[in-house]
Amino acid sequence: MNDTLCNEALSGLTTGIELTYLVAAALFIVGLKQLGSPATARQGNIVAAVGMLLATVATMINLSVLNYEMILVAIIIGSIIGAITAQKVAMTEMPQMVGIFNGLGGAASALVAVGEFWRLLDTGSTIPIDATLVAILGVFIGGVTLTGSLLAFAKLQGLVSGSPVTFPLQQPFNIFLFLSFIAGSVYLFFNPVNPLLFLALTVVSLVFGVLFVLPIGGGDMPVVISLLNSFSGLAASAAGFILMNNMLIVAGALVGASGIILTQIMCKAMNRSLVSVLFGAFGSAGGTVVGGSGTATDKVVHSIDTEEGAMMLGYARSVVIVPGYGMAVAQAQHTVRELASQLEKMGVEVKYAIHPVAGRMPGHMNVLLAEANVPYNQLYDMDDINPQFEQTDVALIIGANDVVNPAARHDQSSPIYGMPILEVDKAHHTIVIKRGMSAGFAGVENELFYDDKTMMLFGSAQDVVSKLVAEVKQL
Ligand code: NDP
Repeated sequence: MNDTLCNEALSGLTTGIELTYLVAAALFIVGLKQLGSPATARQGNIVAAVGMLLATVATMINLSVLNYEMILVAIIIGSIIGAITAQKVAMTEMPQMVGIFNGLGGAASALVAVGEFWRLLDTGSTIPIDATLVAILGVFIGGVTLTGSLLAFAKLQGLVSGSPVTFPLQQPFNIFLFLSFIAGSVYLFFNPVNPLLFLALTVVSLVFGVLFVLPIGGGDMPVVISLLNSFSGLAASAAGFILMNNMLIVAGALVGASGIILTQIMCKAMNRSLVSVLFGAFGSAGGTVVGGSGTATDKVVHSIDTEEGAMMLGYARSVVIVPGYGMAVAQAQHTVRELASQLEKMGVEVKYAIHPVAGRMPGHMNVLLAEANVPYNQLYDMDDINPQFEQTDVALIIGANDVVNPAARHDQSSPIYGMPILEVDKAHHTIVIKRGMSAGFAGVENELFYDDKTMMLFGSAQDVVSKLVAEVKQL
C-alpha cells in the first residue's frame, strides 16, 4: 500500500515537472517572439527569464538530483562571477562576453557527454549505439563550441590577431581530420569499450574548434559568434538527449534555431553566404588598409568646427543620423537624442539610419537608442533609408566608419567589398564625427572622409554632440 502511494506521488511529481517544462518552453517561445522588436524586447527578456527560473526550480525538485550542496556552491560562485562581469563589461565588449558564454555552454555539454560515457563504461554492461552516438555528438559540438568560442573571444579582445589565419593545404587538412573523426566514431559505435579512442575523438573536436575559427576574421566575426551561439544550443540539446531531459532538449533547440536565424540575418547584412564566411578567409584581401602603402596622405580632408556643424544641421530640412561603434564607445546616445529633439524643435525632420552590423553586436544601435528613448518610428533599416539619402540635406555620422564606406560598393580588393552600406555619400552633405582618421573594425581607409561633400568634425562623440546641442540652441 505504502509502495503504491509512493509510486503515485513519484509519478505525480514527474508529471508536474514535465508540465512545468511545457510552461517554461511556451514562455521561452513568447519571450523570443517579443525579443524580435525593440518595443517588446525588455518584456521578452523578463518572460524568458521567468521561464528559465521555472525550468530550473522544476529540475531541482527532480528526485534524481544527487547533490544539492554542490549545486548551491556552484550557483553562488557563478552568481558572483556573473554579477561582477556584468558590471564590468562595457557594451562594446558584448560580442566577447557572448563568445565566452557560448564557450562555457559548449564546455558544459561536452563534460556531460564525457561524464555519461564514463558512467556507461563503469557499469560494465554493453553500451547501446544510440548512447554512444549522443555522447560523440555532445563531445563534438560541445568541443568545437568551446575552443572555437575561446579563439573568437581572443580575436575580438585583441589577445591574438583578429585577421584570418590560413596555411597551405588548410581545407584538405580539415577534411582529413573530419573524415578521421567520422571513421573513429563509426569504429566506436561497434566497439564502445574504448576510452582511449573516445578521448582521442574529444581532442580532435577541440582542435577542430580552433581550426574552424582560425581562417575567419575581420568583419566576419559577428557571423561566427552567432553561429557558435547556435552551436552552443545544439550542444545543450545533445546534453538533453544524454540526460533524457526534455527541457534541455527544447531550450537547446530554441537557442540552436534562433542562432541559425541570426547567422542568416548577419550573412544577409554582410551580403555573404555562410559558406564564404566559413571558408573564404574574409579580411585577408589587400584593400587600402590604414597605415599601409595605400594611405592617402595627399588627399584633402575638409574639417569644420561645432559652430559650422550646428549651422549646417540647424538650417537643414532633413537630417539622417547614422550611429556607429564610436557612439557606443562614447555613450553619446542620450546627447544624440537631445540634439535630435533640439533640431526637431527648429522644424528639422530627423531620422536614424540603422545598419545591421553597426557597433559590435547585432542590434547594438537599436539597444542604445532605445535606452535613450528615441521613438522607434524614427529608426530606419538600411533598405528603407538608402533610397531616401538623395533627398536628405545632411547625413550626420556619429562614430560609424565601415558601415558607410563606399569602397564596399566598388573596390573589389577591399575586405568589405560586397557588404551593403548606408549610402550617406548620396546625401547633399555629410558630417562625420570621430576623433581622428583611424580606421574602423575592418581596418580599411574610408574614401568618404575625402569626399568634397564630407565635413569632418573631429572629437569624441559625447563631447562634440554636447557642443552641437549648445550651438544649435544659440541659432
Ligand atoms: P567601425 O568599427 O567601422 O568604426 C568606428 C569608428 O568610431 C572608428 O573609426 C573610430 O574612429 C570611431 N570612434 C571610436 N571611438 C570614438 C569616440 N569616442 N567618439 C567618436 N568616434 C569614435 O564602426 P561601424 O559601426 O561603422 O562598423 C561596425 C564594424 O564592426 C563592422 O566592420 C562590423 O562588421 C564589425 N562588427 C560588428 C559586430 C556586430 O555584431 N554589429 C560584431 C563585431 C564586429 P576614431 O578612432 O578616429 O575616433
